[in-house]
Amino acid sequence: MQVFTTAAELRAHVEAARGAGRRLALVPTMGALHEGHLQLVRAAAQDCDEVIVSVFVNPTQFNNPDDLRLYPRQPEQDAAALAPAGCTALFLPTVAEVYPQPTVLRFDFGPLEQVMEGAHRPGHFNGVATVVSKLFHLARPHRAYFGQKDFQQVAVVRQLIADLSFDLELVVYPTVRETDGLAMSSRNARLTPAARAAAPLIYQVLAQAATQVRQGVAPAEVQAAALAALAHEPQFTPEYVEVADAQTLQPVAGYEPGRAVVLCVAAHLAGVRLIDNIVV
Ligand code: AMP
Repeated sequence: MQVFTTAAELRAHVEAARGAGRRLALVPTMGALHEGHLQLVRAAAQDCDEVIVSVFVNPTQFNNPDDLRLYPRQPEQDAAALAPAGCTALFLPTVAEVYPQPTVLRFDFGPLEQVMEGAHRPGHFNGVATVVSKLFHLARPHRAYFGQKDFQQVAVVRQLIADLSFDLELVVYPTVRETDGLAMSSRNARLTPAARAAAPLIYQVLAQAATQVRQGVAPAEVQAAALAALAHEPQFTPEYVEVADAQTLQPVAGYEPGRAVVLCVAAHLAGVRLIDNIVV
């Protein structure tokens, strides 16, 4: 596995690999890697000849300075985990390397970002779209791998690829969970033991809500029951529960045959913000 810290090094590597006819995968991450990330990398290694993994805590997608400051960083451990998973090139740039100057361009994804993460984290998807665009240009992948864990991010990236004609295939990988159902997340490392013990409630609430949706319980009722179940656990402060159209991400008032809905949750647990979702 090669490690590159500059855009120039990565570009040279990509140019050589493309020239040799190799198929390139990109797995963008913010590091503090867990099994969810590594499964994406393994899937990429199965499909492609070169797997480029970026580890970059992207400041422009954080709306909360404390979240950025406290975000776990462990580049040496990440590098050690990546090579055996099939990563061939680790891109580990500094903030100055990715942002030699402040960006002026602003992305507006319309209704897609006026809900859920976009509504609760102003500027978040502008930062995501900015860094993802930069990484697509630098790594020029044939395929880019993203996790369903960040459902709205996938929708935004899909729109980005379509609107800017990025010549690549988006691969969406299912959410990898702990045995108790908690979605793996780098932020889980920040949970106290008591909070970690309470955390699987998010998935339990989602699973219960999914059952209700399958039974045809009205979205408003599903939403209210899920919010109440989360609020019942004193360590939780729910931020939102949405029953949304899986394509448009807009809240639904009812169900239509053949149209999937996505149940999305964001909740604060002892100072850590966690998100999760299930598609029904
Ligand atoms: P992050 O480092 O949190 O920005 O995540 C990097 C990529 O890994 C994103 O595409 C995430 O959606 C994906 N990812 C994070 N957690 C999981 C998980 N538990 N299962 C599957 N993919 C994940």
